Amino acid sequence: MSGLSASVAPVLFKAACPDCRCRFELAAGALRLAIGASRRTTFYSFTCPECGSAVRKPAGERIVELLTGGGVRTLRLHTTA
Ligand SMILES: [Zn+2]
Repeated sequence: MSGLSASVAPVLFKAACPDCRCRFELAAGALRLAIGASRRTTFYSFTCPECGSAVRKPAGERIVELLTGGGVRTLRLHTTA
Protein backbone atom coordinates (compact mmCIF):
# COMPACT_ATOMS: atom_id res chain seq x y z
CA MET A 1 0.00 0.00 0.00
CA SER A 2 2.34 2.68 -1.14
CA GLY A 3 1.27 6.10 -2.24
CA LEU A 4 -1.78 6.08 -0.06
CA SER A 5 -3.09 9.54 0.56
CA ALA A 6 -6.15 11.07 2.01
CA SER A 7 -8.90 11.28 -0.55
CA VAL A 8 -10.33 14.40 0.96
CA ALA A 9 -7.69 16.93 1.80
CA PRO A 10 -8.64 20.12 3.56
CA VAL A 11 -8.90 22.84 0.98
CA LEU A 12 -6.90 25.90 1.82
CA PHE A 13 -7.11 29.21 0.05
CA LYS A 14 -4.19 31.56 0.02
CA ALA A 15 -5.13 35.07 0.95
CA ALA A 16 -3.48 38.28 1.98
CA CYS A 17 -4.61 41.07 4.25
CA PRO A 18 -4.45 44.58 2.79
CA ASP A 19 -4.25 46.10 6.26
CA CYS A 20 -1.37 44.27 7.93
CA ARG A 21 -0.07 42.72 4.71
CA CYS A 22 0.05 39.30 6.28
CA ARG A 23 -0.23 36.27 4.06
CA PHE A 24 -1.96 33.17 5.27
CA GLU A 25 -4.03 30.20 4.25
CA LEU A 26 -7.69 29.99 5.07
CA ALA A 27 -9.91 26.94 5.26
CA ALA A 28 -13.16 26.99 3.33
CA GLY A 29 -15.08 27.63 6.53
CA ALA A 30 -13.24 30.89 7.13
CA LEU A 31 -14.33 32.37 3.83
CA ARG A 32 -17.65 33.61 2.60
CA LEU A 33 -18.69 34.29 -0.92
CA ALA A 34 -21.45 36.66 -1.95
CA ILE A 35 -22.75 36.47 -5.46
CA GLY A 36 -24.66 39.51 -6.58
CA ALA A 37 -26.45 40.47 -9.74
CA SER A 38 -23.37 42.08 -11.22
CA ARG A 39 -19.64 41.75 -10.93
CA ARG A 40 -19.54 44.78 -8.70
CA THR A 41 -21.62 43.04 -6.10
CA THR A 42 -19.85 39.72 -6.28
CA PHE A 43 -17.16 39.43 -3.66
CA TYR A 44 -15.63 37.20 -1.05
CA SER A 45 -14.84 38.13 2.50
CA PHE A 46 -12.87 36.84 5.42
CA THR A 47 -11.51 38.01 8.74
CA CYS A 48 -7.78 38.44 8.94
CA PRO A 49 -6.43 35.98 11.55
CA GLU A 50 -3.56 38.34 12.31
CA CYS A 51 -5.17 41.73 12.88
CA GLY A 52 -8.86 40.83 12.89
CA SER A 53 -9.67 43.16 10.04
CA ALA A 54 -12.70 42.36 7.91
CA VAL A 55 -11.47 42.00 4.37
CA ARG A 56 -13.69 42.13 1.32
CA LYS A 57 -12.42 41.55 -2.18
CA PRO A 58 -14.09 41.35 -5.57
CA ALA A 59 -14.49 37.84 -6.93
CA GLY A 60 -14.23 37.16 -10.62
CA GLU A 61 -15.74 34.14 -12.32
CA ARG A 62 -12.64 32.08 -11.77
CA ILE A 63 -12.50 32.86 -8.08
CA VAL A 64 -16.19 32.09 -7.72
CA GLU A 65 -15.65 28.68 -9.28
CA LEU A 66 -12.65 28.06 -7.06
CA LEU A 67 -14.44 29.00 -3.87
CA THR A 68 -17.69 27.20 -4.56
CA GLY A 69 -15.79 24.12 -5.66
CA GLY A 70 -13.84 24.24 -2.41
CA GLY A 71 -16.95 24.25 -0.28
CA VAL A 72 -17.02 27.90 0.71
CA ARG A 73 -20.35 29.06 2.02
CA THR A 74 -22.06 31.02 -0.71
CA LEU A 75 -24.60 33.74 -0.26
CA ARG A 76 -26.64 34.79 -3.22
CA LEU A 77 -27.68 38.39 -3.13
CA HIS A 78 -30.92 39.30 -4.73
CA THR A 79 -31.72 42.75 -5.85
CA THR A 80 -35.00 43.89 -4.43
CA ALA A 81 -37.05 46.09 -6.69
ZN1 LIG B 1 -4.55 41.76 8.77
